[in-house]
Amino acid sequence: MAEHNFDVVILGGGSGGYAAALRSAQLGLSVALIERDKLGGTCLHRGCIPTKALLHSAEVADVTRDAAAYGINATLQGVDMPAVNKYRDGIVDRLFKGLTGLVGSKAITVVSGEGRMTGQKSITVNGDVYTGKNLVLATGSYSKTLPGLEIAGRVITSEQALQLDFVPSKVIILGGGVIGVEFASIWKSFGTDVTIIEGLPTLVPNEDASVSKAMERAYRKRGINFKTGVRFQGVQQSATGVVVTLENGEQFDAELLLVAVGRGPNTAGFGYEENGINIDRGYVITNDRLQTSVPGVFAAGDIVPGLQLAHRGFQQGIFIAEEIAGLKPATIDELGIPKVTYSEPEIASVGLTEAKAAEIHGQDNISVYEYNLGGNGKSQILGTAGFVKLIRKNNGPIIGIHMIGSRVGEQIGEAQLIVNWEAFPEEVASLVHAHPTMNEALGEAHLALAGKPLHAHA
Ligand SMILES: Cc1cc2nc3c(=O)[nH]c(=O)nc-3n(C[C@H](O)[C@H](O)[C@H](O)COP(=O)(O)OP(=O)(O)OC[C@H]3O[C@@H](n4cnc5c(N)ncnc54)[C@H](O)[C@@H]3O)c2cc1C
Repeated sequence: MAEHNFDVVILGGGSGGYAAALRSAQLGLSVALIERDKLGGTCLHRGCIPTKALLHSAEVADVTRDAAAYGINATLQGVDMPAVNKYRDGIVDRLFKGLTGLVGSKAITVVSGEGRMTGQKSITVNGDVYTGKNLVLATGSYSKTLPGLEIAGRVITSEQALQLDFVPSKVIILGGGVIGVEFASIWKSFGTDVTIIEGLPTLVPNEDASVSKAMERAYRKRGINFKTGVRFQGVQQSATGVVVTLENGEQFDAELLLVAVGRGPNTAGFGYEENGINIDRGYVITNDRLQTSVPGVFAAGDIVPGLQLAHRGFQQGIFIAEEIAGLKPATIDELGIPKVTYSEPEIASVGLTEAKAAEIHGQDNISVYEYNLGGNGKSQILGTAGFVKLIRKNNGPIIGIHMIGSRVGEQIGEAQLIVNWEAFPEEVASLVHAHPTMNEALGEAHLALAGKPLHAHA
């Protein structure tokens, strides 16, 4: 048994963990980064990157199918799933090589193997003890299921869905949140008959109500079936398919059932509680400086309650490194974290929904403006529908931006600056947005809210 001492010992090499490692090394701290699988974690290998690559292939399929509408003679002859997967894996492999090279170029000791907390400042891996002046817990999350719903055979999660080397003919998706609607979008574009089952009253229930409604309209138009406000009761599998029964007695058959009911924190069995870490329903509880109940032990990423997003993990990792180095970084405002759903159409949002803004500030103290993409030249060229919705505090800054339409995810950069810098509509209205871009829609919405609409009615 060997003992190794570092300034920072990090458990988990995903978005949260490797960001903490890179920033710690930049700040001159000695770092051990412990990973049992591959650096990059869920996001790079089983999440953000592979799904977005599939969504791009899906977009190519849609464009080809609709080519005649743009005067181009082309026929979609089929989807070669092994070739799609090869394209996707090429991207993941290149990014993985890049990340491994980046981490390798810094003074970071990467330790391969499963780690377990064996003291308030120690992690043991394969019998070796890694002791840090500080620890960072970043062990990520797993795909949840429902009680009694076993993941096996034709009942799969996003992990197995990403391994499929064929396009299923018919799929039921349990869960109309981000992962559910993204897979629905991919499969529909590839020609699958898709039905989403969502227990809450709308698809994408965490978004502004008008976005959820527009998403349902868009999915209806695309021929994606969905049932909302109904609960799943059970599933039966046979050699050829699944039959899903809802609590209201309705039954649906399909080739596969994708379970996309959220992600749970991956914290069991790693010695956290035994070493004094306060855990609630599996999540590691931290203060706003991301410190756990044990001084000098921090947590980042999906194990910390809140939005389970890679860029939140990156920011938390950077924050923790700077906190350890004594730089006293500003705390991360969860409300300022941008969210994008990469389906067709895309959804992008930051800040308060209208309902939440009204609850906090009072409906009379906020103003709302919705700019329809029907008036935006580039959106017409691309053939997309949707809107940009702004919420401002009266005589105050923009406190929420919600967008839906093809490619609106690319607008989130400006949207998050506006909300996080607490810009007034009048200030944004004086900034020039290039024509013709979809980004102009954001400019037009601010012009309108500032009382001087250009390509919009007052
Ligand atoms: C299908 C899907 C699509 C997604 N798409 C997006 C998206 O488009 N944008 C976005 O922002 N987010 C997306 N996410 C979410 C994103 O992947 C996560 O928020 C992010 O990966 C969380 O980072 P993390 O560091 O907390 O955990 P992870 O990335 O899960 O990393 C944790 C790491 O810790 C390792 N580990 C765990 N326990 C141990 C142990 N005891 N010892 C050693 N190593 C251990 C694991 O092997 C893993 O590599 C998606 C997720 C999924 C599943």
